Amino acid sequence: VTNETVLAELVAIVGEPHVLVGEAAQPYLTDWRNRFTGKALAVVRPESTQQVADVVRACVEANIPVVAQGGNTGLCGGATPDASGRSIVLLTTRLNRIREIDTANDTMTVEAGCILQMVQESAREAGRLFPLSLGAEGSCTIGGNIATNAGGTAVLRYGNMRDLTLGLEVVDAAGQVWHGLRGLRKDNTGYDLRDLYAGSEGTLGIITAATIKLFPQPVARCTAMLALPSVEAAVALLARARAGFGAALTGYELMAGRCMQLVTHHYPHLRLPFEAASAEAPWFGLLEISDSESEQHARDRFEAVLGEAIECGEADDAVVAENITQSRALWHLRESITLAEAESGKSIKHDISLPISRIAEFVALADARLQERFPGVVNITFGHLGDGNLHYNVGSSEGFSGSDLVAKQDDIYALVHDTVSAMGGSISAEHGIGQLKLDELGRYKSAQEIKVMTLVKKALDPRCLLNPGKVLQAY
Ligand SMILES: Cc1cc2nc3c(=O)[nH]c(=O)nc-3n(C[C@H](O)[C@H](O)[C@H](O)COP(=O)(O)OP(=O)(O)OC[C@H]3O[C@@H](n4cnc5c(N)ncnc54)[C@H](O)[C@@H]3O)c2cc1C
Repeated sequence: VTNETVLAELVAIVGEPHVLVGEAAQPYLTDWRNRFTGKALAVVRPESTQQVADVVRACVEANIPVVAQGGNTGLCGGATPDASGRSIVLLTTRLNRIREIDTANDTMTVEAGCILQMVQESAREAGRLFPLSLGAEGSCTIGGNIATNAGGTAVLRYGNMRDLTLGLEVVDAAGQVWHGLRGLRKDNTGYDLRDLYAGSEGTLGIITAATIKLFPQPVARCTAMLALPSVEAAVALLARARAGFGAALTGYELMAGRCMQLVTHHYPHLRLPFEAASAEAPWFGLLEISDSESEQHARDRFEAVLGEAIECGEADDAVVAENITQSRALWHLRESITLAEAESGKSIKHDISLPISRIAEFVALADARLQERFPGVVNITFGHLGDGNLHYNVGSSEGFSGSDLVAKQDDIYALVHDTVSAMGGSISAEHGIGQLKLDELGRYKSAQEIKVMTLVKKALDPRCLLNPGKVLQAY
């Protein structure tokens, strides 16, 4: 089958305006971080599940790999095709309908290309909360969120995307549709396919729609920013917050002082809410609770717990947002870190998780080992402390240039990931594997786990045409 024949077939399925080639395809061939650029026969934009199935079938018959892409905000190069130019990129953004909102069942059925923010807004209009929240929410899609099992800032209270997903509709590698859009909270009828597709990064099937969980809108939300003396103190405060707030504790983020310096340097209109001394703190925390009673109730609880924390030396200072605008401003500081980091040049990113009890020990040990081996590198550490998830990133300085960083990248990965692994942690907490961590997965996942994963992949995608070379080596 020639490329021309396949392109003609794709045009017949989705229509000419939706088969992008040449210049029009370029924006979809580089990942968000500009680390990977690939080539593709075409970028194809189906608008229905049936069209996705027809596209996959046409590609499989012609032995053409299919790389699913949603908002292209993934941080591991998972949605970027390889350099062969044989693949098509299947863009899901036209699959953007809200199919159903069932308030009695507290569920919503949405197509895979729906932008996360639009899903949050639709839930809000129906008087419900869809709690997944992350910095890329204005561009990332629900399909991408499920395919990467995204985490974000409210996992502590509501779980990650896998926990928020009840049912799926998926096109498999043979172009067959699995109609699994069940809004059930209990379903023990054998192996859980939802769990298999969540986090599979486009390597086992193309997600076309999902039934997701909704929650009551909290009556009040209260957010505070804390100036913290150390990571130990931040962890102690987490335990206090868990005991004091119980299920009301929604998020607890940790940010190194350097992260806030980067944010205020690159975005001077953003300001820390502290006076001079506290603004220089080595660490900051962002704490949020959701309350089902009232604003006053939330504030009273907040002030009691934070007052105790300050008395015990777990926090040096705390600023409680007075209203939703102030709360958003505090979150905006946190959410600007990734962008400010990107503005400040190259960095080596580690998306790791550890038992919370070992986080302080890890930061001290890894910081010291890095300085010993690579004097001059700087740490840009932040993350979802409540989930034991750190973005332990390493940046350049005057003493250690961006090109040094790139040259030593593999050694830096190895040092950090060896330290994580020795402490019982994971080398990918929420961003996935993609093509970025393919080799790392082979080093840190046990042979037994890789064997079972490969068996699953071969069973569901025997010709390795769904996102080959991502998560597992292509065969
Ligand atoms: C500023 C910023 C902040 C971020 N913060 C967080 C955070 O806090 N937590 C977090 O977990 N992530 C975060 N991310 C990463 C990213 O936003 C998430 O991974 C998101 O879930 C990706 O969605 P997407 O639609 O952009 O997917 P894409 O980047 O398009 O794709 C990601 C992977 O999913 C696959 N895929 C996409 N759609 C489908 C589909 N329909 N079916 C099958 N496979 C599919 C792709 O092939 C690829 O492997 C952040 C990214 C940025 C840029």
